[in-house]
Amino acid sequence: MNDPRSLLRAASLRANKKLGQHFLVDPNTLRIIVAAAELQPEDTVLEIGAGTGALTAMLAESSRHVMSVEIDERLRPLLEESLIAHRNVDLIFADFLQLDFTRRLPPGPYLVVANLPYYISNAILRRLLEASHRPFRMVLTVQKEVAERILAPVGQLSVLALSAQYYGQTRLVRRLNSTVFWPPPQVESAVIRLDESATPRLPRAAEIWLFQVIRAGFSQKRKQLRNSLANGLGLGKDAATRLLERAQIEPERRAETLQLSEWIQLAQIARQPP
Ligand code: SAM
Repeated sequence: MNDPRSLLRAASLRANKKLGQHFLVDPNTLRIIVAAAELQPEDTVLEIGAGTGALTAMLAESSRHVMSVEIDERLRPLLEESLIAHRNVDLIFADFLQLDFTRRLPPGPYLVVANLPYYISNAILRRLLEASHRPFRMVLTVQKEVAERILAPVGQLSVLALSAQYYGQTRLVRRLNSTVFWPPPQVESAVIRLDESATPRLPRAAEIWLFQVIRAGFSQKRKQLRNSLANGLGLGKDAATRLLERAQIEPERRAETLQLSEWIQLAQIARQPP
């Protein structure tokens, strides 16, 4: 592995913490992340945040093609040099949040493996989970709190947790000590894996409506559902109560306590005339 510290020093660069630059410097952690992805020689991998290319190089060794997106142009010469031997890597210098990434990927299935920049990890997750062409698997390094929110039990669910459950199965791969990064972040981290569910999804329009209803339900923190739904869907309070009763959900419950299956039921009933 090329050590990010020496690569940056040789290029007279400093890590930019505003861009979430905490590079993985522990080869064992890199191996754990790559092993969790279970890459096959024919796989296409999307990486967000190439950094100095340590993870990129390992991904390239175990897959057919890696598309890696990096926002920091300063890293271009260093990355082009450190990845020169890996001809199957396509480096894109762009803001991932602005990039039409599904159009840039080759057609066919792909997976995402990334040590995410924490300052925008929620926005990145949302883009991936809501993409028209979703990855079939994701192995992501995230802040420990984000991992906990994604893996939260019923009673502590959020829009993010429900989006992840709708996408598929989620699991914790490993907690990470901040010393595996350089510079070490102030927060703890975890590697999580998400696998797309094999069961058929809802049609696209029903899926969009489902998340409109879920967001409406979470629009007011810790309020009873009849209030947050009335507010979020622009209904009267009585209409929201009747809707919940038709879906056999007690109107006094709070959004965090509803399972995904209950939201699906609620969204279906909300679409039907009373
Ligand atoms: N993959 C490298 C590693 O594991 O050492 C770097 C990971 S570092 C946590 C996150 C990387 O994401 C940084 O290189 C940072 O410049 C990049 N980044 C930050 N914001 C980005 C954005 N909006 N789009 C693409 N890359 C971004």
